[in-house]
Amino acid sequence: MSVREASPAVVTVSALDAGHLTLPERLFVTDADPEKRATVPSLSFLVQHLAPGRTRPTRLLFDLGVKRDIHGYTSSQQAHIAQRQPVIISPDCTESLLAGGTAVGPQDIDLVILSHVHWDHVGTPSDFSSATFIVGSGTLGLLKHGDGPLYPADLFNDDELPFDRTVELPLVSPFDVGSDRPKQTQPSNSALARIAPYLNPGTWAWKPLSTFPATLDLFGDGSILVVDSPGHLYGHVNLLCRIAESKYVYLGGDCCHDPRILEGDKGIALYEDGRGGLRSVHVDTQAAGATLDRIKGFVESYRGTIETEVIVAHDGVWRGLNRHKFWPGTL
Ligand SMILES: [Zn+2]
Repeated sequence: MSVREASPAVVTVSALDAGHLTLPERLFVTDADPEKRATVPSLSFLVQHLAPGRTRPTRLLFDLGVKRDIHGYTSSQQAHIAQRQPVIISPDCTESLLAGGTAVGPQDIDLVILSHVHWDHVGTPSDFSSATFIVGSGTLGLLKHGDGPLYPADLFNDDELPFDRTVELPLVSPFDVGSDRPKQTQPSNSALARIAPYLNPGTWAWKPLSTFPATLDLFGDGSILVVDSPGHLYGHVNLLCRIAESKYVYLGGDCCHDPRILEGDKGIALYEDGRGGLRSVHVDTQAAGATLDRIKGFVESYRGTIETEVIVAHDGVWRGLNRHKFWPGTL
């Protein structure tokens, strides 16, 4: 009898519509049509993890998309959103969850991981009153204080996330401590106690995997890895989900806004920052480019063994081709 390795732990992943917004192509990709604007989704994902011996899965949402109520945004955010019209707010994440027609509603969500806290990803956290929020290091400081002239505090909501239900991931590197990026906020004991039944933050540590220098095994079984993916905004993280023995899904958030950049057909656009310099949609364009290179390298490194599907939050083409993978369907 041959000895066979145990099958890897897997999760199920379903896409959710969580609103749409409109992006001018010239701000996002090189060699753009200066007039072209595309209305694109801000995708959310339901990830379900069933631990051995349990009957109820732990349910996690990755990103919450656009707020249903525009008045939930600050006036500065609303001024920015005015440049992204049309914005479609229905169905939002919660409506899409309920429209799945199963018994799963917002009160059944245990965890929410935000790739980052831009307005089109934070959604309506108050809908998820049972959930604990997990965000990249520095995120709560960013919400409170902003960061520098391009990211002033009024572009964020300082009370966006409930402090007693929010856990910031550990610092990725000691280097982060000395830099001017937003400081880490230690999670409260109440937030840590909430996730103790199914997560063990005491064992969390950033470890390399293939081309990624820093991944964090969320459940300790390899089924969901949080991937440090710097460049777009402080605390930006991605999620690598194993959905089958030979299939990964890589949820890329805003690592890029247009999959043509990942495919190498386009580059990251640069435009005037209004201060005599150039900027991109990323806080650190070079770091964002390095993150994209690592993602491409990761996919290549497993080619032939494990297939990796990369999905970025604003990919309208993927949405159109994969309607059957939206909740209650699965990837
Ligand atoms: Zn963003």
